[in-house]
Amino acid sequence: MANNRDLLTMMHGGEAPDKYMKSVTPPVFLNSLHVFKNCDMYNNVDIFNDEFYYGRASNPTVAILEKKLCELEHGSRAVVFSAGMAACAAAILRVCHAGSHVICLKSIYGPVHHILSDFLVPKYNLSVTYVEGIKLSDFEDAIRPETDMIILESPATLVFSVVDLKGVAALAKKHGIKTYIDNTYSTPLFQKPLDFGIDIVMHTLTKYIGGHSDLIGGVLISKDEELMRDLMIQRDWFGGVIGPMEGWLAIRGLRTLDVRLRQHHETAMAVAQYLENHPKIKRVFYTGLPSHPQYELARKQQSGECGLLSFEVKGDPHKAVELADTLKCFSIGSSWGGYESLVMPATYYWSEEELAFHGLGRGILRIHCGLEGTENLIADLDQALEKI
Ligand SMILES: *Cc1c(COP(=O)(O)O)cnc(C)c1O
Repeated sequence: MANNRDLLTMMHGGEAPDKYMKSVTPPVFLNSLHVFKNCDMYNNVDIFNDEFYYGRASNPTVAILEKKLCELEHGSRAVVFSAGMAACAAAILRVCHAGSHVICLKSIYGPVHHILSDFLVPKYNLSVTYVEGIKLSDFEDAIRPETDMIILESPATLVFSVVDLKGVAALAKKHGIKTYIDNTYSTPLFQKPLDFGIDIVMHTLTKYIGGHSDLIGGVLISKDEELMRDLMIQRDWFGGVIGPMEGWLAIRGLRTLDVRLRQHHETAMAVAQYLENHPKIKRVFYTGLPSHPQYELARKQQSGECGLLSFEVKGDPHKAVELADTLKCFSIGSSWGGYESLVMPATYYWSEEELAFHGLGRGILRIHCGLEGTENLIADLDQALEKI
């Protein structure tokens, strides 16, 4: 799964035990500021090169995390934020200005719709075109002279549709448009969008990178060093910095990311196959199944899948809610990427309009396959499906 270079990066990248008393793990630098012997030293601090003066600008623990994430995504610099959404908002604010037009994947993570349609459109005169994104022409047809940004997620964590990343990146370059992707589903281990020409990668650290449902954080990564320096300064101005403890927990999460993902993948694959063959299930959405309509494209750009998938029950859509209520190993919850199994009926998460746009019924559920063991999860689904 993870390549050799990525494994070394997750274990040791960015770390320098000699700098902190040979401690095998880096300390949590809980200081809000750094102090100096003279004004000249203070005045010459280079925040872009591992020098520190104030915790809102940068922190030594967080800087180690940033080096690891940057290396994993083949970027030139990573900037870590207090949440995935803080990272997303920072990227949009950096790239766009009043009057900008944005092309956004319709099935993007919900709160991105709110930032765009409920905030930036009415207050800052942005305009947005939402596209399905299955065909390259969906993007091409939406381009206007004032288009500044294309916002992607692939696979999208609603319907698991896949975007042709190389194709969109090339199209956008031709028109001078910046491309952004939410790469949370794949983690840096399964997909490296910067290598396909995408400009900015975002991850929420809250999901698999943290991995234990005990932190909130986000990151932006790019090969564009100037853009990332601007984003680092912007983070200082706006104050969306992550806490040092959360940064440290994300470093710890990275150390086991590969082994956790192997298990999440193995379990989810078995669960997806089980569901696909169940007489009460209409269809399963998982890019690891050869029946996925974009299986070939997924194989070209992703080297794996994680534990998140959705499926649709046959018959009365209320059965989806009944099923969620009957499951015992899967708790009802809106997140994913931790050790625990979760379930969420689509009707509680997505609007009627979103479901209709994707031609989806109301009988859809999204599940996260946690680390409780494949047999336990399948047995739980089995007993619940028996009852509905
Ligand atoms: C959870 C999630 C986010 C938001 O991350 P936060 O850290 O909660 O802000 C963004 N994108 C996807 C795909 C997510 O699942």
